Amino acid sequence: MNKLDTALVSCALKEAGFTLTASVKEADVVLINTCSVREHAEQRVLSHLGHLKHIKKSRPDIIVGVIGCMAQRLGDKLLEHEAVNIVCGPTQIPQIADLLNQALKKNEKCLAVTEKIRTSSEDENQTLERFESAYGIEDKQIPSQAYVRVMRGCNNFCTYCIVPYVRGPESCRPPEVIIEQIKKLASQGVKKVTLLGQTVNSYKYKKGQKTYCLADLLDTASDIKGIKWIRFVTSYPSEEFFGEILQVMADSPKVCNFLHMPAQSGSDKILHAMNRHYTSHWYLELLAKARAAIPGIAIAGDFIVGFPGETEDDFQATVDLLKKARYRNSFIFKYSPRPGTTAEKRLQDTVPPEVKQKRIVKLLAAQEKISDELSRDFLHKEVKVLVEGLSKKSHRNIAGSSNNPQLVGRTETDYIVVFNGPMSLAGQFVKVKIIKTSPLTLFGELI
Ligand code: SAM
Ligand code: SF4
Repeated sequence: MNKLDTALVSCALKEAGFTLTASVKEADVVLINTCSVREHAEQRVLSHLGHLKHIKKSRPDIIVGVIGCMAQRLGDKLLEHEAVNIVCGPTQIPQIADLLNQALKKNEKCLAVTEKIRTSSEDENQTLERFESAYGIEDKQIPSQAYVRVMRGCNNFCTYCIVPYVRGPESCRPPEVIIEQIKKLASQGVKKVTLLGQTVNSYKYKKGQKTYCLADLLDTASDIKGIKWIRFVTSYPSEEFFGEILQVMADSPKVCNFLHMPAQSGSDKILHAMNRHYTSHWYLELLAKARAAIPGIAIAGDFIVGFPGETEDDFQATVDLLKKARYRNSFIFKYSPRPGTTAEKRLQDTVPPEVKQKRIVKLLAAQEKISDELSRDFLHKEVKVLVEGLSKKSHRNIAGSSNNPQLVGRTETDYIVVFNGPMSLAGQFVKVKIIKTSPLTLFGELI
């Protein structure tokens, strides 16, 4: 989500005449796009702002803007920070160019956030829609790939989560604007689109007699010439539309066999306290249905360890679930109390930091073992890879390196593949034979 917002803002600012630079030294304006999901993310922004405060001593004209969830959460408190000139929430990003011009001309502080985010207006939604349709078709992070938001906000209120309070209520974009956006992206050479939503599988849009669901979007997007792969994240464990989604995944070779469906915990007591509406048994049955419909489907998960009240037994239930689910990979986080959420208001953060640390290490190790086993299945096999570009990390011991640089790409099931090849392959599909594996990365040779 945040990557998409950064791309939208960059695109809007370029159109308004700004030039982008990655160097603070060259910049007249510094924008920080923020996330509030965990405290750690906010701490990093604050330390960045501390650094900018220092820079502003010698360059007082530099304009600093904070955009995104932290802006919405902290509002005028953030504006009080010495370094900050602009605070702009996620709903106000269409105003960003005007806010910057205003701040540059008058050197005044500006606050643009929604006062009552849970009752955000139809006007605001329409402004966001126009912004997204206009700027969601350029400035892809990787030239052949793009993100397309299908819904905003969330109505689920998992007790630990800040998202519903900073991103507002769930609102689904009309199917025709989503499809039109994907068509435009395809005409610009985009081959892979990722549909985004906090509970993307619950997408629904009523138009006349028909209610469109995610499966309809996937099906229609599959007919778009030029689009080769379509994926969607993140799915909430739910049976609603699940059969339809699996069916279109099975029927369309373009819909990637990949599901990101977080469990968060394996303990029914903790799932209940988290306000997640399922049990671990039911969740595993849902995964079994997915595997029966799509053999070879890759499944990714998220977990929170150290949620208030999590005992050793609860944690062990999470380890057991993770092992049974056999995820391709999991994103594992230590519980971080977020101000204003139900868990923060009603439950004490009972699990000590050292216990959270021990649990995260143990769960990561269990996942690494499974990821390693699943990766090994690819050894000596051929995989189809969409090349992203130069590999950021330099990996050693790759055979046949010749004079070509190391490239990185992904398979349909989201495995990272590293191999040597000419840069001209960026954005292309290639076949790679896997010669070495690690838990998260496959290494191979171009065929
Ligand atoms: N909407 C998605 C879902 O329901 O699975 C995930 C959204 S959230 C931005 C991404 C992940 O952050 C969650 O799946 C959860 O594991 C983690 N997360 C959210 N709130 C958290 C908190 N207070 N402490 C630790 N991790 C948290
Ligand atoms: Fe947060 Fe739950 Fe909504 Fe995901 S579904 S964004 S975890 S409230």
